[in-house]
Amino acid sequence: MTKDQLLTRRRALLAGAAAVGAVGTAGVLAAITGEEAVRPALPAVGPPAAARPLKPSAYRLQPLTGYGPPRAAQRKTLVRHEPMLKVSGRGRTMVLTFDDGPDPRYTPHILDTLAEYDVHAMFFVCGEMAVHNEDLLARMADEGHVVGNHTWSHPLLTRLSRSRIRSEMERTCDVIEDAYGERPEWFRAPYGAWNRAAFQLGAELGMEPLAWTVDTLDWTTPGTRSIVGRVENGAAPGVVVLSHDAGGDRSQSVRALRDYLPQLLDSGYHITVPRRQYA
Ligand code: ZN
Repeated sequence: MTKDQLLTRRRALLAGAAAVGAVGTAGVLAAITGEEAVRPALPAVGPPAAARPLKPSAYRLQPLTGYGPPRAAQRKTLVRHEPMLKVSGRGRTMVLTFDDGPDPRYTPHILDTLAEYDVHAMFFVCGEMAVHNEDLLARMADEGHVVGNHTWSHPLLTRLSRSRIRSEMERTCDVIEDAYGERPEWFRAPYGAWNRAAFQLGAELGMEPLAWTVDTLDWTTPGTRSIVGRVENGAAPGVVVLSHDAGGDRSQSVRALRDYLPQLLDSGYHITVPRRQYA
């Protein structure tokens, strides 16, 4: 498929979505606001996150936050000093996010389940995965999912120079635009390790930083039941759930979604994707 065909298809999809929104389902979409963000329980003492070495085994356990005052930026994207951790919106809204893919072994199954229940999710993709799986990004566009930027090669940004961070982000924006049809509006730092450069460069590239509220810890392959339990125990209005569709054997993540998604829907949750709120 040519890029033009892809863009035409994407535009048609967006036009359809706008028409649906106009007739009254817009309230299902959540607006994200920085004010709603809640800090995770971080240690009260210790060196700044940017300087603290991270153990690989502990890196995904909690989002770290960066420093610096908010500033005005190009493209009316605010430079934040911490990522958003949850969404605000009417009703029982939750957001499902899948990181590190796409992986042709697992991502199609996740897309199948989302389609079966007619819900949309967010995929924070790595450029080095996306460039080999552009068909999966096109499918995400066709099916109304949101694709975010998770860097090119999943490095620890707090150890990189500013120019390397920019390169990691920019190349990934480019491959997403090629395959998905538009540039990403959301960014998530690998390992939840944010720093000031990541916030500033993300804003320059027109992206908002989104972390998560509930970590399924699926990357530790704790068992499908354990992943399901973490989602069910963490379910609450505004919650953003972190899972992975790549980076190892993710068959437990695939099976868990088939279990918890219908349960969340039965409990009255709207599973949706956030709408950007421009500064
Ligand atoms: Zn990741």
